[in-house]
Amino acid sequence: MGAVIELDDRLGAARAHARDWARDLRSTALELDRDPDTVYRCLDNPAVRHLSTMLIPAPWLPDRTLIGGYRFDGMTAMERVVFAEEIAAGDAGMMLASPGASLSGVLVDLLADKEQKEWFYGRLLAAPTWTFFALTEPDHGSDAAAMGTRLDPDGEGGLLLRGAKRYIGNGARAQVGVVFARDRPGPLGATAVLVETGAPGFKAEPIPTIGLRGAQLSAITLDGVPVPEGRVLGRHLSPTRRGVWSGVQMFNRLRPGVAAIALGIARSAHDYVTEQRGSLSKADRLRWERTGRRIDGVRQLIWQAAAIVDAQPANGHLASAAKARAARLAEEVTLEALEYFGPGARLTQPMLDKLIRDARGVEFMEGTGNIQRLNTFQGLVQGKLDSD
Ligand SMILES: Cc1cc2nc3c(=O)[nH]c(=O)nc-3n(C[C@H](O)[C@H](O)[C@H](O)COP(=O)(O)OP(=O)(O)OC[C@H]3O[C@@H](n4cnc5c(N)ncnc54)[C@H](O)[C@@H]3O)c2cc1C
Repeated sequence: MGAVIELDDRLGAARAHARDWARDLRSTALELDRDPDTVYRCLDNPAVRHLSTMLIPAPWLPDRTLIGGYRFDGMTAMERVVFAEEIAAGDAGMMLASPGASLSGVLVDLLADKEQKEWFYGRLLAAPTWTFFALTEPDHGSDAAAMGTRLDPDGEGGLLLRGAKRYIGNGARAQVGVVFARDRPGPLGATAVLVETGAPGFKAEPIPTIGLRGAQLSAITLDGVPVPEGRVLGRHLSPTRRGVWSGVQMFNRLRPGVAAIALGIARSAHDYVTEQRGSLSKADRLRWERTGRRIDGVRQLIWQAAAIVDAQPANGHLASAAKARAARLAEEVTLEALEYFGPGARLTQPMLDKLIRDARGVEFMEGTGNIQRLNTFQGLVQGKLDSD
């Protein structure tokens, strides 16, 4: 690992504000878990309001409300990890349930031309707008490159989407989103397109889930959805740069943020025990303090991963290590927290029960632990990752 990272004044201010905002989210966390539609009643929450315009860059939102006197767009991985940990420590479910550019925003920033950005950001600025990002398919999750959804010419100058996507966050409540589809054979033959959920042939239905229920994972059916040529992302780039290249860059940029969500869940469980359990025996206190130091250690790893991704977006190997470590940490800390409340704690402590389920959900987001470990080892073998 590199030198210890400390936050500058701007990120420190963002962190303090986000921590403050996140307190309110705890009071609605269980309600959102029971009923994902709770988000519609929380649109005035400052965290939700901020998320709804996060990832909209300065040219499209020049007069953004400042945080502690600073602009905070969330355009860098470092900004996102600082913010995501705090909001997820309040409620990871609400973080994923909120309107805003979210995952699609990173891809739009990377691939969209000026006209597409105007359209996409314009939608987000006009009203609270939910977006989705559809890559995973019923039979293709970890092996996303084998996707079967197709983007074919409609014979009249436009394109048609056909296929199915699954486990898509906010799929059923979104107005716009990005769909990845195959438009030519071979490993590079993937393209991302902007889609409106009101388009003919588009159908999205929530899937029953156990963890991170706020995200309202959905199954999407694309039955000949018309896509105008102007909605093909990266149309001004070469086919190689708009396909797999963009996917890799995008996931590298997002991965530290997902790790930070896991970290926030772990911290939430840690705070919960500290606040609710009262006095602990010396042995328990020392054990819990040790867990706190593990959380601090993983935070450093995530910050380092974010700094690397911001400097070299093609290098996501440390980000993979951070995501795998943080997801495991979240599962271990949430389960360990139960031990402080005795038998039956999963029933008597519904918040901990929710955190355990949420931690399990993060394991699958943006690549499972196995996939992250494969990517980490590739980095080691290729000499792009320091074995220390
Ligand atoms: C909360 C949540 C939000 C999500 N949001 C989105 C979203 O917005 N958009 C989207 O497109 N997708 C989303 N997903 C889907 C997510 O990306 C997939 O669940 C993930 O990629 C894994 O795919 P899968 O579920 O099909 O599992 P599989 O790929 O079937 O994996 C099953 C198991 O096999 C293991 N495995 C698979 N391949 C290998 C291998 N080569 N080597 C070793 N082990 C392997 C995995 O580690 C896992 O343990 C979301 C998922 C969750 C839980």
